[in-house]
Amino acid sequence: MSLPVCPTCKQTDQIQKVTSLYASNTKEWKESSTGIDSWGNTVTTEHLRTAHTSLGLKLKPPEEPASPTHPGLWYGFGGLILVFLCSILCPIALSVAGAIAPLIGGLIGASTLLPDLAGMPAWLVTSLTLALPMICFGVVVLVAGVWLGSKLKSRFEKDMKTHREKKLVFERDEFPRWQRAKARWEQLHYCLRDETLFIPGENKNIAVDEMQNHLYNPMTRS
Ligand SMILES: [Zn+2]
Repeated sequence: MSLPVCPTCKQTDQIQKVTSLYASNTKEWKESSTGIDSWGNTVTTEHLRTAHTSLGLKLKPPEEPASPTHPGLWYGFGGLILVFLCSILCPIALSVAGAIAPLIGGLIGASTLLPDLAGMPAWLVTSLTLALPMICFGVVVLVAGVWLGSKLKSRFEKDMKTHREKKLVFERDEFPRWQRAKARWEQLHYCLRDETLFIPGENKNIAVDEMQNHLYNPMTRS
């Protein structure tokens, strides 16, 4: 295998592969810090730190694009909060209902002793006056629930649609674009004499500052 030749000085002696040059211009280390959390325990956290020389910073590989987040994640998160709220509110609602029930029972029971009203037994009148608002309230809650549910469903479907479109763009364009740029980055060589980059076989030098642009748009002349 022949050594890559610099397109500027036509020599091979000062050539370094960018992958190794980047690695030697980048330092990674772990830093640990000790602190006290809210429970009074001593906790040690480790942070991964990186530092680049100015050349290392310029020779950074193309950054991998983040895949779009599935909307189900957010809905699932919301659902979890809802379940959590219900687990707190439901026992309260049940205990309130439990406290009211004997009161209502007592009222209806007491009304059996009252005389009939306009031909209707008093206990029936009392039951109806108590039950009607409750039925109304129940219906309102039910309708509101169904309405909210359908709203949420159409919203979710819309979000899913945009997500599918975004994901398609990501899988079809953004990700392969990055893969190509990364593959080109791995082929890059650097000439220490001229301080320029080149890809063997392309016979064209690339300024360090133009690297990112060139990786993504190899066709444009810089
Ligand atoms: Zn050179």
